[in-house]
Parts: sequence; structure tokens; C-alpha cells
Amino acid sequence: MWNITEVALRLPTSKASDHLLQPLWDFLLFQHYTLVSSPFFPVLLAFSCYFIFSVPFAILDVLGETRAPLFEYKIQKQRRPTVAMMLRTLGTAVYNHLVFVLPTVLISNVVMPAPPLPAVAPTVWELISGALGVLLIFDTQYFFWHLAHHKNPHLYRWVHAIHHNYISPFSWSTQHLSAVELMTVGFWSNIDPILLKCHPLTIWTLSVFSIWMSVEDHIGYDLPYLPGHLVPFGLLGGAMAHDIHHQKPSSNFAPFFSHWDRLFGTAVTVKPSKKIDKEK
Ligand SMILES: [Zn+2]
Ligand SMILES: [Zn+2]
Repeated sequence: MWNITEVALRLPTSKASDHLLQPLWDFLLFQHYTLVSSPFFPVLLAFSCYFIFSVPFAILDVLGETRAPLFEYKIQKQRRPTVAMMLRTLGTAVYNHLVFVLPTVLISNVVMPAPPLPAVAPTVWELISGALGVLLIFDTQYFFWHLAHHKNPHLYRWVHAIHHNYISPFSWSTQHLSAVELMTVGFWSNIDPILLKCHPLTIWTLSVFSIWMSVEDHIGYDLPYLPGHLVPFGLLGGAMAHDIHHQKPSSNFAPFFSHWDRLFGTAVTVKPSKKIDKEK
């Protein structure tokens, strides 16, 4: 809790940008407190983002090249997902959430309830640095986990293989994961922001952004103007890098950034689809 001395010490160094997010935070607290204070809100936010981000690309896939101009950006044009494949992968995501994620949230809330939401918003710098820090930690954790699960046949078969059911990824397949993989990823997504002492607003913003990047990895379209292309020097992998991973699973293990794959010599940036098609 603040005392008068603390307030007096903080005010002279306080900048306008420090309070930029306060109106948004006040709006969430005062207008939507019941929703945002629910222990299920982070899951609802993440699943809604997965659903909303996936729909436009599912429509593109259904329309196909004759009815969707953007279909020209499809990476593996010859492998369009069927509606049955879309329903199956969405069904896996719904099943995993109902059977594993929601009960885990319920139990954790009983064992270790979340602290009350703070009254003060994070500064813009706190939000950006916290989110970037968590993304870099998560990217590292998943890179080594992913590498291990491709190198060890037992781990691959029992944990990660289901995600590779499809050589040509499509938006719904983002969460076509085994329960073990989903819970591992979920654990890191929860613990990393706690380790970096992130504000709830940072965590929610990060959740939206990281779900977008995960879906972008799987959209199967190399669209210009997406973060994967806009961030310079190929620092982000994006749709093409992860599409290549699904075609050539010994490459591009990192989920978001490219530095670990470059360091380990597993980065592949050229499109290998024609060569792989010939091999099949
Ligand atoms: Zn994938
Ligand atoms: Zn993989």
C-alpha cells in the first residue's frame, strides 16, 4: 500500500506516458469488473482470440482460388483443408479446454487464488518490456521442448505427433495439440508473466498477441503486411517458417522468433514444398 512519502517521492518523476493506460484500466475495472476478475477470463480471452483469428483464414480455405483473391498467397495450394479437417481440429481444441484446461483453472483457483486486481495501470514501458520479456522466455522454452520432442521418438510419438497430422497447416490446426503439449504451453504462459511480475493488463495484451502469432504460424498463407514480414531482419519466423516446419519437421523449431534456429543451424527460410512434394 502507498503512503504519503511514497506518493511525494514518485510525483516529480512521473511522466504523462506513465498514465496513458490508466483510462483503459479504469474502464475495465469499473465497467467489466465481474468479467475481468473471473479466474476463467484469461482462458476465455485466449480461446476467443484463437477462434476469431482463425475464422477469416478458414473462410479463405473454404472459398479456394476461384472465389478468394487472397488464395494466391496460399503456401501449399495443392493441400486445401476440408471442412471435416477443420471441424476435427476445432473439436480437439474445444475438448482439451473442457476436459483439461477449465478443470485445471478451477482447481488452481481453489488452491492458489489470484491476488486482487491492482488499481494502478502499468506504464507503456512496463507493458511492452514485460510482454517482450515473456515472449523471449516462452520462445526459448518452446524451442528446446520442441527440439527434444522431435529428436526423441517416444516423446514425439506420445506427445507431439498429433500436431503433425497435417503437412499443410491451417488456422484451426494451431491448437490441434495433445493434452500434454497444451498443458505444458499453458503452464509456461501462466508462470512466465508471474516470474517477470507482469501486470494483468500486460498478461492479457500478451495473450492476444501471442495467440495471434501462434495462429499466424499456422494460417498457411504468406500474406504481406503481417508481423512476420513487417519486423525487420527476419527476426520473427511467421507463417512461412512454421509452414516449412510442418513440411520439413527437422527445421524451424522456435514458435515466434528466429534467433534460436539460426544459432542451432535449424533455420530454413526457402520454400521447400516443390522438393518435398517430389519426395512424396
Ligand atoms: Zn504447428
Ligand atoms: Zn513440431
